[in-house]
Amino acid sequence: MNDADSAAAPVRWIERQGFAKINLTLHVTGQRQDGYHLLDSLVVRAGVGDRIRVTAAETLSLKVNGPLADGVPVDARNLVLRAAEFLDDGAGRGATIHLTKNLPPASGIGGGSADAAATLQALAELWSVPLPVDVSSLGADVPVCMETGPQRMSGVGERLIALPALPPCWLVLVNPHVAVTTPAVFESLENKQNPAMARQIPIFSQARDVAEWLATQRNDLQAPALKLVPQIAACLGALEDALLARMSGSGATCFGLFASADAAEAAAARITRDHPDWWVASAPLLS
Ligand code: ATP
Repeated sequence: MNDADSAAAPVRWIERQGFAKINLTLHVTGQRQDGYHLLDSLVVRAGVGDRIRVTAAETLSLKVNGPLADGVPVDARNLVLRAAEFLDDGAGRGATIHLTKNLPPASGIGGGSADAAATLQALAELWSVPLPVDVSSLGADVPVCMETGPQRMSGVGERLIALPALPPCWLVLVNPHVAVTTPAVFESLENKQNPAMARQIPIFSQARDVAEWLATQRNDLQAPALKLVPQIAACLGALEDALLARMSGSGATCFGLFASADAAEAAAARITRDHPDWWVASAPLLS
């Protein structure tokens, strides 16, 4: 064995964050013949998320750890493995994927979709393959999770328009540790044909303007989710200091919008003190 052979090969790993997806608005505007709902939503990412780390390996495998890993599937049901297989497209490439779960599952902040997007990005780099153009077959929220800045998302999630950066804003995310299944919330939504968002989303100069405009828009899933999970009302109430408090996605996570990191961190600390059993995170809104 010569020196070159005995030298340990460098361990190559690539890491990506699966940032929380927040629906600042979510208007349900109709339902297609195939049952999928039509949406009009202003989507942003918060600077808190799961971590995906991929390393080269002969075969494909997934390990899940982290504070919120309980109950997250580690088999083919996990969107991470589905994303890896989608990217591999039958070529038989391998990788060990480590998912560190920091976001509560089934909580309206698109954890699984964010993980799938982060996996696609990390593996495309590891395997030196291009990213697929259309990732919507992996899930309605996966396309938006491939982006970082604010997006107007419509159709069933596949139509995206990149929006100008929002002014500096901070988010406090609150979840009562009650998992919500998205289909159950859509089923209890009585009116599935609601007005779309305002045609033109204004250009905002400060967090307060964002909050004032958001107050004129809606999350149509908030009322049906509140009926299924009464704790959502307590989460919204706990965000009383926020410029605006609303539920994200199909819940149960609620967000509060703040104008400064200090204000957000103070609110998060108070809510954690009052509700030690809730998941609470404070993070910048990513632009
Ligand atoms: P959305 O806002 O897109 O409706 P969500 O935040 O409500 O998503 P997820 O956290 O994506 O929901 O989880 C929904 C379900 O998907 C979970 O109950 C779980 O069984 C399954 N799942 C598959 N992959 C993952 C993953 N990587 N992380 C969490 N859940 C996953």
